[in-house]
Amino acid sequence: MKLLNQLTAHRLLKMLKKEEITSLEIARALFERLEKVEDKIKGYLFLDKERILDNAKEKKQGLLAGVAVSIKDNICVAGELTRCASKILSGFTPPYDATTIKNLKAEGAILFGRTNMDEFAFGSSCESSAYQITANPWDLERVPGGSSGGSAAAVAADEAIFALGSDTGGSIRQPAALCGIVGLKPTYGRVSRYGLLAFGSSLDQIGTLSKDVRDAALLLKVIAGFDSQDSTSLDTSVPDYESYLGKEIKDLKIGIPREYFIEGLDRGVKERVEEAIKVFQRLGVECVQISLPHTEYAVSVYYILATAEASSNLSRFDGVQYGLRNPQPATPTCAEASAGRRKPQTKGSLLEMYEQTREEGFGKEVKRRIILGTYVLSRGYYDQYYLKAAKVRELIREDFEQAFKRCDLILTPTSPTPAWKIGEKIDDPLKMYLSDIFTIPVNLAGIPAISIPCGFAKGLPVGLQILGKPFKEEKILQAAYAYEQSTEWHLQKPVL
Ligand code: GLN
Repeated sequence: MKLLNQLTAHRLLKMLKKEEITSLEIARALFERLEKVEDKIKGYLFLDKERILDNAKEKKQGLLAGVAVSIKDNICVAGELTRCASKILSGFTPPYDATTIKNLKAEGAILFGRTNMDEFAFGSSCESSAYQITANPWDLERVPGGSSGGSAAAVAADEAIFALGSDTGGSIRQPAALCGIVGLKPTYGRVSRYGLLAFGSSLDQIGTLSKDVRDAALLLKVIAGFDSQDSTSLDTSVPDYESYLGKEIKDLKIGIPREYFIEGLDRGVKERVEEAIKVFQRLGVECVQISLPHTEYAVSVYYILATAEASSNLSRFDGVQYGLRNPQPATPTCAEASAGRRKPQTKGSLLEMYEQTREEGFGKEVKRRIILGTYVLSRGYYDQYYLKAAKVRELIREDFEQAFKRCDLILTPTSPTPAWKIGEKIDDPLKMYLSDIFTIPVNLAGIPAISIPCGFAKGLPVGLQILGKPFKEEKILQAAYAYEQSTEWHLQKPVL
């Protein structure tokens, strides 16, 4: 008999409806699990146990009535600590709910804690959180991936039923792959970004991390849709995603891009993905070779555009409005000033407070990105870097547009390798950046993609990525579900 914390949301919802269980029992089961394993996993940054239990006692209504959802630390929840895993936001509690949070509450979900992440979502390993390093439940010496590593590890370790994450260059799909769960990044504009602390505004999307494909469909249904508060959200109807699960897929055509099966791709990952392609063929799908010729530029383009946008977005954290403020040093006395011991223009000045707050509040990777982003936007370099990258981005988007004339979906590995050891890449940013080589193009093109478990390489989970046409999440879910139903990878659990 399985414990409640081990079940999927859709199973729990059925049991809740029949009144076989209560939502308080779900929350308690999660807390019991946390007591056993959270010391090792460190997936959560903040949990208000009393508030959660009180909330779980209330009668709920809606699509997610009574079921717990864990939330990445960069999505605003009114009155609850939201720090983006950064020191600069220590003590910050937003006065309002993100639209996705409002939607979850409206459908009766219980918000279950804030999950760890790389500071400001800059990273692929969760190691650059200012507070703690999350471990991969499959091997505690390895990273869970990032930046939504806390959400992914918590779901994989049964410390969460399902979770929200955000994905700017792979931050949902890559940790989902490394932790052996399902991660869905919707089309840019499908889910409101209102209340998501912005990283790269032209790339960010909120999405789902779950134990299976049905839960991804369920959660997407609740968070998707037009929002007048987000001018980039598209006013188009939200399909009933669940109704696509179980439909035949033999009329679908799947493209396999040759640029994704390159040197540096782990052998085990390659073999698992090739086996997955065979499963699809057995299901009657036609697979064709395609080409996405500008793939090799994606990582460079991304690190110019994403850092440029980040440097601008992060300029608001200056100690005035949010979180940390470095206490302003005393203004120099006239005697000190005239003796030249302190500069009266800067000492104790507003500028100095900005500088000291940012110096103290931001971690190493955040500073690296602000410097890089400011540089590529600066006069004299703007055309050479930013503008050029923006043009190449368009070529990458066109690659997909062309490819999707020949197929409905595209299959690739999610990550070139399984989870690596904690500490292995943290001092080599380039190595870290290259780990997102297969997820970044999707964000640059704004299209949707999912990562689902497709087996193991040396005992570590491998993720299969399925990419779709803009606003065609239902096709991705349909194919992912068909695959899931013919395999058992999603049922494997780490032993803790
Ligand atoms: N790992 C990528 C980065 O560091 C993507 C992060 C994300 O999607 N938020 O930028």
